[in-house]
Amino acid sequence: MQQVSPDLVFRLRTLANHALDLLFPPACVACGHSGSPLCSACAQRAEPVTAPICTRCGRRTTHPRTSCPLCAEERSTALTMVRSAALHTSPLREAIHAFKYEARPDAARPLARYLVAAFMAAEWRGLDPAVEVVVPVPLHAERRAERGYNQAELLAEAFCRRVGLPCRPDWLERHQFTRPQVGLNAEERQQNVAAAFAAASEVSGRTLLLIDDVYTTGSTLRACADAARQAGARGIYGLTLAQPAGSRVM
Ligand SMILES: [Zn+2]
Ligand SMILES: [Zn+2]
Repeated sequence: MQQVSPDLVFRLRTLANHALDLLFPPACVACGHSGSPLCSACAQRAEPVTAPICTRCGRRTTHPRTSCPLCAEERSTALTMVRSAALHTSPLREAIHAFKYEARPDAARPLARYLVAAFMAAEWRGLDPAVEVVVPVPLHAERRAERGYNQAELLAEAFCRRVGLPCRPDWLERHQFTRPQVGLNAEERQQNVAAAFAAASEVSGRTLLLIDDVYTTGSTLRACADAARQAGARGIYGLTLAQPAGSRVM
């Protein structure tokens, strides 16, 4: 049988989705209003991450810092810069929740716009080394099969179509956790998570942008970065949709 190019499949699927959208308009993942997966009213209510921030992890700080106390405690240095597009507040929080847990993969495209907007900031232009390849944080196969998709992968693909960078979901793999996380201290958790990821040999010498939905403690992104660094990645950055809205780091 003749091979059908993934690009053609994507175009056909997009066309089919547009036709379905006309017949059955999607509901906004945040407010339920009919018309688009994320209505413009909700989209505009996302709260930006305002300065000052830690230049490394992107967390909001009380005053400008090159490394916040949380970063200073980190032994892992593979991940040199992380930014989050917005705060994890309503209605973006509900939108991300529906995207991940309520079978709304169609929210990937409108949500990825936040990543694109964040990536337009001047600080991403002058990076040395510059971003070459985008790699989504993987889910383990079992979880992915359950959900039917990896939300970070859908975000990364939509992001890459807008910014013109290659997307390589197969460059990182997530294995089953070796132990349950319950009852482990912070260091043990980090070790446990670290063992869960493996990077493909292709990352060697390349500079990666890791994409995920929410940046909470950063342990997942750091574990991915450690795996990529071990496999020889040259530079590793991170970009996520949202960071916690709690108080600023001192
Ligand atoms: Zn809405
Ligand atoms: Zn920091």
